[in-house]
Amino acid sequence: MKGLENGLSRREFLSNTSKASLAIGLAGTGILSACAGDANGEDKAVLVTSFTQTPLAYDYAALAPNIDAMTMEIHYTKHAASYAKSLGEAIADEKVDTNKPLEDVLAEVSKYTTKMRNNGGGHYNHELFWKVMAPNAGGKPTGDLAAAIDSSFGSFDEFVSQFDTAAKTRFGSGWAWLVVGADKKLAVGSTANQDNPLMDVSDFKGTPLLGLDVWEHAYYLNYQNKRPDYVSAFWNVVNWNTVAERFAAASV
Ligand code: MN
Repeated sequence: MKGLENGLSRREFLSNTSKASLAIGLAGTGILSACAGDANGEDKAVLVTSFTQTPLAYDYAALAPNIDAMTMEIHYTKHAASYAKSLGEAIADEKVDTNKPLEDVLAEVSKYTTKMRNNGGGHYNHELFWKVMAPNAGGKPTGDLAAAIDSSFGSFDEFVSQFDTAAKTRFGSGWAWLVVGADKKLAVGSTANQDNPLMDVSDFKGTPLLGLDVWEHAYYLNYQNKRPDYVSAFWNVVNWNTVAERFAAASV
């Protein structure tokens, strides 16, 4: 994001939808994500997560009515910020080498404290969540990702059905996921609390391509107890460009 921040503020840059679409377009080309992942300069940089919060690529109101502005603001500035802050404490306390990606810590999170597990997961999951959503998004994937979904699930509709079930039936707080496994196949599943499929402690493993937060804090202001309505609305804001970019990087 350096180039954007030098010239004008993020808010100026994202002051209207067409400009936000430009930012999403850049993200789709890998230009923005390359900024975050220059550490190793590889194609897989898109799969690398910073230990600190990345600015949202769109305004809090940009996903409404599917996700309302107040939910987005509280979610980003309070809940997600809290995970990032506590992760910062944990990496200092537990002497983590932050030159290595967060993903490496999560892959061996059993060696660390519960604070690392909860907040490392919480931070990673939210950083991913913001990126896999966008205004004026939704629809269906195309290209290699669409072919992989058809191959793994039979059809896009069947994939959506399985993902919806994972999201709706996750008891209590957690996340629903689309991952690509070591066998390069796509799979759908869910994890509890702030666990995720990168963690050695998780029964469900893979590289996350798409994640949906089903904690009540993600939807309660607008949807109250109606989690299924929130899950249905999520499909209107999925940023398939980012999901496809992640799939391509994970498939190298
Ligand atoms: Mn959340």
